Amino acid sequence: MLIFDAHIDTLSLLLTSSRISRPRQTLAGAEGHVNLEYLRQGNIGAQFWAAFVHPRSYNGLALHDTLEKIDFFWTMLDDYPDYLTFAGSAQDIRAAQATGRLACLLAVEGGEALEGKLAHLRNLYRLGVRLLTLTWNFRNDLGAGQMEGPEGGGLSRFGLEVVEEMNRLGMLIDVSHLNEPGFWDVIEASSSPVIASHSNAKALCDHPRNLTDEQIRAIADGGGVIGVNFCTAFLTSSGAATLDDVLNHIDYLVKVGGIETVGLGSDFDGITETPIGLENCSRTLILADGLNGRGYSVDAIEKIMGGNLLRLCANVLG
Ligand SMILES: [Zn+2]
Repeated sequence: MLIFDAHIDTLSLLLTSSRISRPRQTLAGAEGHVNLEYLRQGNIGAQFWAAFVHPRSYNGLALHDTLEKIDFFWTMLDDYPDYLTFAGSAQDIRAAQATGRLACLLAVEGGEALEGKLAHLRNLYRLGVRLLTLTWNFRNDLGAGQMEGPEGGGLSRFGLEVVEEMNRLGMLIDVSHLNEPGFWDVIEASSSPVIASHSNAKALCDHPRNLTDEQIRAIADGGGVIGVNFCTAFLTSSGAATLDDVLNHIDYLVKVGGIETVGLGSDFDGITETPIGLENCSRTLILADGLNGRGYSVDAIEKIMGGNLLRLCANVLG
């Protein structure tokens, strides 16, 4: 069974915490939610690594800092060639599986990295980026994040051009963090299925980062996938989350969007509180047991744990 996680922030955590430009040994000894040992124990087969654009780099350094994170990603792959390998397509993911290596896919979280130019989108693609989260929480020159609320408005002309160019290139358009008007602009403009790489259901936890039923259905109708986020604040308003809360969101997303729509998007190393029982990526596999306990078929469990994300990659990345 392929286990595929659509979002972790480990690149940012390692780069900022280690204060070194070379990740040699860094992933092996990492003390966050993700390290080499945990990835192995958890049998993670494919992973999107997000190069997160930090707000401190917004005014002129966004591309600069993103390029440093991308170098960190590639250097990490060079350092662990027996275990990590680049994947830019579904075929690459299957090839990694065949050789027992972790398929590493590259994402950028924050359209600020484009610095207003489609040329930089194409250059990022050439460097291996296959997913772009259009916004983080705030306004940028593509659109507005969910912290801006509906008043932030929809996608800009440039945002619509980015959607069109991402469709042409074969990149995954990530609507996590986007405000609602922007979300609906993406749904209308994109000719390819979209991803919400790390978002949950608003009906179960009324947080601005979560998706309404209408949004869940729209992603499902287009053949897209929603990665369930393990962040406590997006799972429950009670202050502490358990494995059952994650399973509740999966159940709900399946109920509203169908079995083909749900995947994993842990947000490990980007969140502080994790659910009890899901403390790091070595534990991700336990979700399969939980789904089994709730009566899901083997086929359905395989889709949720990774099959749906693999299908999306096959459809969009080619
Ligand atoms: Zn995020």
